Order: sequence, then structure tokens, then C-alpha cells
Amino acid sequence: MTEPAFYRLLLWGFLLVAALTFPALFFITAPYGRHEAKSWGPTIGNRLGWLVMESPSVLAFFACWYLGGRPTDPASLAFLFLWQLHYVHRAWIFPFRIKSGPKRMPIAIAASAFTFTLINGYLNGRWLFGFGADRYGAAWLEEPRFWIGAAVFLVGFAINQHADWVLLHLRKPGETGYKIPRGGLYRWVTCPNYFGEIVEWTGFAICTWSLPGLAFALWTIANLLPRARSHHRWYREKFPEYPPERRALVPGLF
Ligand code: NDP
Repeated sequence: MTEPAFYRLLLWGFLLVAALTFPALFFITAPYGRHEAKSWGPTIGNRLGWLVMESPSVLAFFACWYLGGRPTDPASLAFLFLWQLHYVHRAWIFPFRIKSGPKRMPIAIAASAFTFTLINGYLNGRWLFGFGADRYGAAWLEEPRFWIGAAVFLVGFAINQHADWVLLHLRKPGETGYKIPRGGLYRWVTCPNYFGEIVEWTGFAICTWSLPGLAFALWTIANLLPRARSHHRWYREKFPEYPPERRALVPGLF
């Protein structure tokens, strides 16, 4: 099989699995963080899990850029910057900021997320720096889609960073429990970090105007919308005083 044929098959398979995963995650909550469960087999430490899960995003995308043949094109550099702005933090900084104590996650979760980020990094990087690279010459930087998408991405990034910052400062050193987060978008929703993440990858899809970009945005919604509902339900059960006006994910909607 040629690589382009393999790529097409992988991309459509990736979209199909996203479509199946979305409804499934309303019934199965991935067992990490507050939804930790003992029944998912052997586990690894949380911090190591995050490193393992997210590193392929940095490395696969970087490899596609480096080997892609046009690494100094302005649009290539812009895509690389946006992607790595998010993923260098997520893979190599965020794991050292979490305060989960001795919390662990199932190896099955880390392995499936590793597979996901590897495929996603390849699909997006290979398109932007390889199969689709001809579309992204210097003229792409004059496209409103590029600038609108990049702006949406950066707004989402700021929302995600701020929301995670609030969460990561709720615990004092040595604490492992949960408190009600407040301030910023927490006034309106339970999971502004997930909301910001969805805005980010929607922006990236607009900026690149690509099917793999869209597939990633849809995957992010498929993963995080059901999880935001699980978090929201969990807060309501755990804290009777939880602000009743707060929605799960999107201000004013749900
Ligand atoms: P959570 O909001 O569940 O937790 C983030 C961190 O904050 C964890 O370390 C958690 O600790 C801590 N925390 C959360 N709530 C509280 C609280 N009320 N009191 C004290 N500490 C708290 O997010 P995730 O761990 O699911 O995700 C982390 C990041 O990864 C997010 O930015 C998310 O958007 C992104 N992500 C992206 C995905 C995608 O598909 N693109 C998929 C999954 C995550 P603990 O671990 O102990 O619960």
C-alpha cells in the first residue's frame, strides 16, 4: 500500500472512531483524575502517564515538519508554532505542574491516549508539511481563514491556560482533595479548560482549513463534552453549595 492510500484510510478510520467514541463516552467515563477506578488493570503514576500520553503529539508533528521538505515556509512555521505552543506545554510542562499526590492512571488509558496522539500528530503534520503542503505557500498568510483561525486558537489557548492555572492553584502543597474553582469563566461553566481546548482546536481547523484539522477538533469535542458533563454531575453531587447557575461546558447553553 502506498503512503497516501494508508494516510487516507487512517484519516477516515480516525473520523469513524471519533463518531463511535462520542456516544460511548456518555456511558463510560475515562478513569483518571477524579474518576479514577480500580477495575481498569495495571496503572502508572499520573505524571508519567501525562508525559507518555502527550509526547507523541510534540514528536510526530515535529518529525513531519522537519522531514517535510519545506520547513522554512512561513505558513509551515506558523502551524508549527501554534501546535507546539500548546503541546510542548501539555507534554513536558503540565505533567510537572499537577498536584495529584500518589494518584495513578490505568496503563490502558495512557496507551490509548498515546496511540491517539501519535496518529493525530502524524495525520495533521503529514498533511500540513507533506501531502497538503502545496496549498500553504506564502499566500496562505493573506487568507482571512488563517488569521481568524489563529486568533480563535490563541483565545482558546488563553482560556485553557487560565482555567488550568486556577485548578492547579486550588491545592496547597501536599493536598490531594477537591475544592470549588471560582473566577474567570468558572463563573459560568464547570470546565472552562475543556471549553478553551475545544475553541483552540476549532481555531486550528479553521486556520489550516483541513480535514485532519477538523477531525482533531471533532475528536476534542467527542472526548471533552461527555467528560465535562461527568465533572459537572460529580461537582453537584459532592458540593451541595455548588453554584446552581453554572453550566457544564458552554456558557448559557449546557
Ligand atoms: P481536570 O480539569 O480534570 O484536571 C486538571 C488538573 O487540575 C488535575 O491535576 C486535577 O487533579 C486538578 N483539579 C481539577 N479540579 C480540581 C479541583 N476542583 N480542586 C483541586 N484540583 C483540581 O482536567 P484533565 O486532567 O482531564 O485535563 C487536563 C488538561 O488536558 C486540560 O487542559 C484539558 O483540556 C486537556 N485535555 C485534552 C484532551 C483532548 O482531547 N484534546 C483530553 C483530555 C484532557 P486530579 O488529577 O487529582 O483530578
